[in-house]
Amino acid sequence: MLGAPETAGSESGACPGNIVDEPESPPRDRETLDPRDWRAFRAEAHRMLDDMLDYTEHIRERPVWQPVPHQVREAFHEPLPRKPNTLASLHARFMRQILPYAVGNAHPGFMGWVHGGGTPIGMLAEMLAAGLNANVGGRDQMPVEVERQVVRWVRELFHFPDSASGLFVTGTSMANLIAVLVARTAAAGAGVRRQGIAAGGQRLAAYTSEDAHSCIAQAMDLAGLGSDALRLIPVTGDHRIDPGALEKRIARDKRAGLTPFFVAATAGTVDTGAVDDLAAVSGIARRERVWFHVDGAYGALGMLAPDIAPLLAGIEQADSLAFDFNKWGQVPYDAGFVLVRDGALHHQTFASPAAYLRRESRGMAAGSPWPCDLGPDLSRGFRALKTWFTIQAYGTRQLGAMISRTCALARYLKQSVEREPALELLAPVALNIVCFRYRGERADEINRNIVADLQESGIAAPSTTTIGGKLAIRAAIVNHRTRESDLDTLVQAILAFGSAYSHRSSRACAL
Ligand SMILES: *Cc1c(COP(=O)(O)O)cnc(C)c1O
Repeated sequence: MLGAPETAGSESGACPGNIVDEPESPPRDRETLDPRDWRAFRAEAHRMLDDMLDYTEHIRERPVWQPVPHQVREAFHEPLPRKPNTLASLHARFMRQILPYAVGNAHPGFMGWVHGGGTPIGMLAEMLAAGLNANVGGRDQMPVEVERQVVRWVRELFHFPDSASGLFVTGTSMANLIAVLVARTAAAGAGVRRQGIAAGGQRLAAYTSEDAHSCIAQAMDLAGLGSDALRLIPVTGDHRIDPGALEKRIARDKRAGLTPFFVAATAGTVDTGAVDDLAAVSGIARRERVWFHVDGAYGALGMLAPDIAPLLAGIEQADSLAFDFNKWGQVPYDAGFVLVRDGALHHQTFASPAAYLRRESRGMAAGSPWPCDLGPDLSRGFRALKTWFTIQAYGTRQLGAMISRTCALARYLKQSVEREPALELLAPVALNIVCFRYRGERADEINRNIVADLQESGIAAPSTTTIGGKLAIRAAIVNHRTRESDLDTLVQAILAFGSAYSHRSSRACAL
């Protein structure tokens, strides 16, 4: 089932049940897009569900990733289809041409970047949400109430007041952008929405660390403030923002006539998992009267784990917080979230006064404010349902234990690295990310090749990053399916590939 790349059009006759249509049927026969034969459709639907449950149950037996064969890629260059295809044939194509060639973040050997593994419960909730086809922009409906329930849980988890607002978004990139926009309203007033930032004559400046995610600079760009107005503050040896350097830079900008308005601390940097000293940054922000934002894309949900939560002390003081349920929370993609302490200001930043006046106190137009008043999206899907299912099904205790376990696994990998003379640890392990490398001459090149070999072999999928100018193998243990034996396999494979490269290069030198 793994290999066998298939080209398009090879599954004629793959549909004994004739699920949807004879290709010859004239279009006027079809009144709706629903199946004509619900019984046959149901049988195919059950096979599709079984296939995805099999995929998850037996995922260990698969390679983490495999390169997409040329013919498979080519199969997706077909012309716009005019005639219907059977559901069974499309299902077969999915199984043969799409499923085997995904990035593999559901696999326990996936340690690249910071991707969540998903759960079968989340998958089922996605199916329910799609079946309902809810548009959760607003109106008086339970899907909006489910989102509000999750907002209340998030407030409770991060010790925010009842007046705080929250919103599901695609991911932390969007959540960070929303935070910058609300902070812009705080600094320049709601008039900035009509007049633009230039009208106020202020030159706003923002701050984050050198190790912060690039989407914060992008948020400054998209907000019209310019990425140059984001100051990248140096980090200390443990990859956390240097609070002294932050204070100095703010003072220097004030002397130069700029208005510092926003500081973003990171709870779990994407490279090393470092957590900025949130309480220290919060103190500076309060003294300087600038907005205190936390990019907690993956790390914020560490609040669920009693042993990790103390590292996040100060997060409860944030003016805004961005994070993803789809990373450490294991909710299927996508499920980003933004929490804003001052819900009224959040509302002022996005609500359209004209739309607001049309709201009613009864009927379907009741119950505002609505989610669409808190962000740029009007129509939006039901991300809250898969999140609600995940939190209800596991409870915070089990989710927290899973998060703690990924950190324990990272410490286990760190110890394995420290035990191996051929390996070198390149950064402290604060949470669940381990950066290390195979020692030797031309180490950057060798380690880049080792990572590509690992990925192509399908054994494990770490990624690379640069730490202090050195290319590092970066293993981010986010997946709840990963266990110690997966890390043993990773280390053994790195040693094997690494030693092959060293021998090759020493032979090359001898020649
Ligand atoms: C993943 C990540 C982001 C980006 O989040 P998306 O959901 O991919 O948009 C931002 N910051 C940090 C620290 C991250 O780990």
